[in-house]
Amino acid sequence: MEPARLKLAGRMAALEPSATLAMAARAGALKAAGCDVIDLSVGEPDFPTPEHICRAGHEAITAGFTKYTPAAGIPALRKAVAEDYTRRSGLAVTPAQVVISSGAKHALHNVFTALLDEGDEVVVPAPFWVSYAELVKLTGARPVLVETSIDDDFKLRPEALRAALSPRTRMLLVCSPSNPTGVVYRPEELAALADVAIEADLAVVADEIYDQLVFDGRKSPSFPTLRPGLAERTVVVAGVSKTYSMTGWRIGWTIAPEPLSKAIGNLQSQETSNPSSISQHAALAALTGPQDCVAAMRDVFQKRRDLVAGRLRALPGVRLPDVGGAFYAFFDIREPLAAARSAGITTSGQWCEALLERQQVALVAGSAFGAEGHVRMSFAAGDGQLGRGLDRIAAFLADSGATRG
Ligand code: PMP
Ligand code: GLU
Repeated sequence: MEPARLKLAGRMAALEPSATLAMAARAGALKAAGCDVIDLSVGEPDFPTPEHICRAGHEAITAGFTKYTPAAGIPALRKAVAEDYTRRSGLAVTPAQVVISSGAKHALHNVFTALLDEGDEVVVPAPFWVSYAELVKLTGARPVLVETSIDDDFKLRPEALRAALSPRTRMLLVCSPSNPTGVVYRPEELAALADVAIEADLAVVADEIYDQLVFDGRKSPSFPTLRPGLAERTVVVAGVSKTYSMTGWRIGWTIAPEPLSKAIGNLQSQETSNPSSISQHAALAALTGPQDCVAAMRDVFQKRRDLVAGRLRALPGVRLPDVGGAFYAFFDIREPLAAARSAGITTSGQWCEALLERQQVALVAGSAFGAEGHVRMSFAAGDGQLGRGLDRIAAFLADSGATRG
């Protein structure tokens, strides 16, 4: 029994742990115990961080960049983010609009904390990345989950957004390319959502962390470029984790109108101070150094997308949306689930458990992303791993109508 003084705060009672990180930890523990697990759970590029970026990290240590930096990040990195964004999006932003944080997840937490009051509502299209709803709830605001359908490539439509609005709606969250679905909105589809956001006077948080991981020559436009006046109501969240395979370095950022950016910097100065000084120098090298590594990794992801999408679509009863970016295949298992009912498997969570138990493949249940009846596979893994993982999933499907083994 815990002493009363260590009783958790109410906000903790409602907090779910990250299902993606939990599954990755589980797969890691099984591997450490000698089990041949194929871990396709967590969304983390499997490539090493490019060498010139690592070198910049080493050099930062040697040169003594091992102390506090300004809370909002070193000026050179804020400038590099502003310049990189301006060059790629065509929308001019200043370094003062950029705050560097300890990963994009931290950046999201900052924005929600800075903007949301108790009882505010945030429209979150489902399926959604696991942390959105939890980070919104931590502020006392309420995520309003709006279901989308695989028949519509899991895209939020303006009518559905309009129908979800209430007098308390404060914010819309958009993630394209999407985690968990890999779906990329077309510019006109995002513009239609932007029109509703303007009409209803909403703030928009555009999570663009996968914006450079798009396939088949697609372009992923930055949300505030879609309509005049959007930049004043939009916060762009991004970072180096996915683009440069730097998940462990923990560098992300917000790009926001200057007064909000200042508020986020103040918040960060009290909560976490600056992100790692060493990682900031490595991120600076990532943004200002050669960019061929980005295209090279993207091309590999595109080949893997072809492999994974082709093989998943060939499985009986499995459906997949159009995977245009990121590194996730979010597939519909409602038919296979119906077939497995007699074996006592009725939810995506049970299906993933059984897959891990019988075939040692780790995926994440759709329920964690607000879409029961689906599962997410990360294809940020080598071809060998993916091929073997797909073989095992096929074997599991062939046999999952059978009695639990
Ligand atoms: N947004 C999305 C959509 C993500 O997939 C991730 C991956 N973790 C993040 C934000 C957080 O990124 P970071 O690792 O930089 O915190
Ligand atoms: N974004 C990744 C994922 O969805 C990393 C894990 C996490 O941050 O939750 O798997």
